[in-house]
Order: sequence, then structure tokens, then C-alpha cells
Amino acid sequence: MNYTSARNLSASVSASQAIISGISAGDGGLFVPETLPFFNIDEIEAMSELEYPQRVASVLSKFLPEFSYDELLSYASKAYCFDSFPVKNAAPVKDIGDGINVLELFHGPTCAFKDFALQLLPFLLAASLRKNGENKTAVILTATSGDTGKAALDGFADVDGVKICVFYPHGGTSNMQRLQMATQKGDNVNVIAVHGNFDDAQSGVKKIFTDAEFAEELNEKGYFFSSANSINWGRLVPQIAYYFSAYCELRKNNTIARGEKFNVTVPTGNFGNLLAAYYAKCCGLPVGKLICASNSNNVLTDFISTGTYDRNREFRLTTSPSMDILISSNLERLLFELSGHNDVLIKSYMDSLAKTGKYTVSEEIFSKVSEMFYSGYADDKETADTIDLFFKKKGYLCDTHTAVALKVYGEYRKRTGDTTPCIIASTASPFKFASSVLSALGQEVPTDDFDALDALSSVSANDIPSALSELKTLPVRFDEVIDPADMKSTIRDWLAK
Ligand SMILES: *Cc1c(COP(=O)(O)O)cnc(C)c1O
Repeated sequence: MNYTSARNLSASVSASQAIISGISAGDGGLFVPETLPFFNIDEIEAMSELEYPQRVASVLSKFLPEFSYDELLSYASKAYCFDSFPVKNAAPVKDIGDGINVLELFHGPTCAFKDFALQLLPFLLAASLRKNGENKTAVILTATSGDTGKAALDGFADVDGVKICVFYPHGGTSNMQRLQMATQKGDNVNVIAVHGNFDDAQSGVKKIFTDAEFAEELNEKGYFFSSANSINWGRLVPQIAYYFSAYCELRKNNTIARGEKFNVTVPTGNFGNLLAAYYAKCCGLPVGKLICASNSNNVLTDFISTGTYDRNREFRLTTSPSMDILISSNLERLLFELSGHNDVLIKSYMDSLAKTGKYTVSEEIFSKVSEMFYSGYADDKETADTIDLFFKKKGYLCDTHTAVALKVYGEYRKRTGDTTPCIIASTASPFKFASSVLSALGQEVPTDDFDALDALSSVSANDIPSALSELKTLPVRFDEVIDPADMKSTIRDWLAK
């Protein structure tokens, strides 16, 4: 099974090459499977008896044929070990009543769901490099506004054949996010603050990526640049696995019968997480409705209800910042599937998006979108009210992103009367957004971040995840602040060490 470009069907690369390259060179399209694997119900049922890493290996081995089951199992066992995910099952499902089953994806080292991809990707990337006979060291460069940087650092720390450098805007992250990065362990990591905002850091990284002379200089020294970008196939495929695991958990709880459908609601930004649920459905998992929940940056809500994607609107800062996005890159992969692999059509949509900020899909694609998806959004007030409601009525404490999903799901139930059991993807720990959550609960919000953690813990009687509480005592290893103009020389000096 090979991978092609959503914008050019003549491209054909192996899974490992897709993971190494990130996006298709030449046409800029995202890599997509040429054909999707299928899991029959016996195969899916058999996974219920397995531990989380085994479930991951079973799912991934059909998507990544160059990797053996045993090899994938060894990576998944390391990526989702108890040290990183200190819970019995890395992706537990909690039944909170009324057909709502929360898939908790926040028990990893950074307390958010991106850990599922970024704990496994380093193993997949390092193995892909070996399979392609690459013996140079990959240098991962990432600009971050906070969360992705930490998740990538944690995943790549001390992985052989890889070095990682993260740039973040000086003063542009929360203090907690800064500390998460500045205290990162590992001999192959580097963390640098850059004067300016996120865009300055991001443009700096892009410039380095496209600097051919610099690439040649590093090549001679045994290095090449790579990215842990969110559109890399190696980040998407680990997410498909946790929807299979969610089915297994629903079966073990007797929430659903063999082969019975369940709905999925996902708080959505770049569309990666919801797309993973869509792929799982295409591969035979009995998923019913796919419910797309947005915050006030509701470009996807409009797309799903009208067929027109239009990013020409005000960008809003919300209390669910990881969903503050106006270009949902992974939508390209959905449209590729729904168009019956029409690369020319997808290229025309993406060109139109780049030129005019919008596109309208064909009647045929729109009718498939309408059939499979439901969409809605929650503003900050509705999000806060939902946190308060679920805590007071059900004793369940959730973060702002998860609250957006719970709100939209409630609205879906009311409008449609559909009582099919639903999985709600919970993408972050409430402690990660302690101030917003405290405020939603009508509590006073301490100015110090660690005081806020303590306050939320005593109000909710929930334990603070140790990944956050330990930051108070871990030594700060990185405190360098530079000008964007000095990013290149900083990398050169770091690699020469
Ligand atoms: C990244 C993120 C999202 C959005 O996920 P997408 O895959 O980009 O749709 C939602 N919630 C949290 C906490 C995130 O970090």
C-alpha cells in the first residue's frame, strides 16, 4: 500500500517516505493512502482483549506495511508506557451518563491529545530513516505558540538519529507553557525564545527550511532538516488507533453490542482528530455521525452546513486557544476521499483557498458531507457554562476544548433526538487550562499558575497531573532569548557543539 498526493495522483511513495517528507514535494499536497485498509468485525472485536499498545500495533500494521507488527508493538509499548501515560489504558473511556462517553486523551506527558501522535512519531520517523538507508541526523525545527513545541520536545527527547530545536515567541506563551519547554530533559533538545510574536518565529523557521545554501552546508556536516508538522501522515495514523480502542472500551462496558454504531464528537481545529475518526469509519469501525465542534472561529461549522469554506473573517482569541485556527489543513484529505480521489479538483480547491481564501465544493461532495457530519460551535460564554453545568450536575470536570464538544453534542441530541451512544474526544486536562476552568466554576482566579492548579484541585477534589505540578521544582535548562535574524546562526552553533 503506497501513498499519493491529494493534489497529484502520479505521486507514489512508501509509508516511510511519506513520513520522512511530510508533504508532497512539487505539488505541496498532503500524502493520502492510495487505498484504505479494511478491518472486519471479528478483527475489531479481537482487539478488545488487547492492551492499548497491541491495539495500536494492530491498526497501524495495516496502514504501514513496511513495518512489522512486532516492530510497531515495540514502538507503541515505549510511546504509551505507564511512565508517559500514568493510567491503566492510555486512552480510557469514562461513561458519565446520558449516553455520553468521554474518551480521555490527556493523560500523556503534556496533558493534551497531541501526545498520542508526538510520542509515537519519533519512533516512526527514526525507523523510516533507517528503512530508506538515511544515516544523516534529522534536525527537527518547530515554531510553537506553546503546546505543540512541548509535545514534540517530549516525544523526540533522546531519540537516536534526531535532534530537535523549538522556537517560541518571547512573552508569547503562558508561563506554564514556557516552563514546560524550558525544563525539558534530553541531550538532543534545544529551546530558544525569539523576540517578536509567533508569526516572527514561524517565518524564521520557514526561511531556514527554504535556505538551500544552509541545507547544503548542514548536509556536508551530516544533518538534514525535517519537521514534525501536524499534517505529517505519521502524526495522523496514531490517532486512528484510539477510535478503535474507544470501540473496544464501549464493548467492554457493554455500552454497545457487537458491531453496533456509536457517534463521535470532536473539538476541532486543524481537522486532524476528526479526520482520524472519519478514516476509522471508512476502514470498517462502526462509527455513526461525525460531529464537528468549533469555537467562535467557526469556519468549519459554516463549511459543513453550506459547502463553502471561507476563511475571510475575523480571527478570534478564545478560551480554547488550541482551536483558534482559520485554515483546517487536514480537510484536504477528507475532500480527496469524498471526491473519489479527484486530485485535479482538490488542487483547484486548494489553489482557490490560497488565492481568494475560499472555495465551494461540488454538489456531490457536499451531499456526502451533509450525510456524514453534523457541525456546531460554542462561544466562550457557552463553553464556560458547559464546564459549570457538567461539574455541578455530573461531577465531571472538563477543560475548555472538551466543553465545546459537550455543548455541540447537547445541541445535536436536542435537534435530532438521536440517542446513539456517543464518544466525546476530551483533548486536554482541565488543569492545563486551570484559570479558565476556575473562572467558569465561578471561583476566584489566582494570578500565579501553580496557585491556580492548587485552587482547581481543592475545588474539584481531582489530583493535579504530576507532569504539571513537577514544573515548580524542575531546573530551568533553557533561557536564551534571541532576535529572529539570529535563528540561523544559533542553529549552526548548537549543531557544532
Ligand atoms: C490541537 C488541539 C485541538 C484541535 O485538534 P485538531 O486535530 O487540530 O482538530 C483540540 N483541542 C486541543 C486541546 C488541542 O491541543
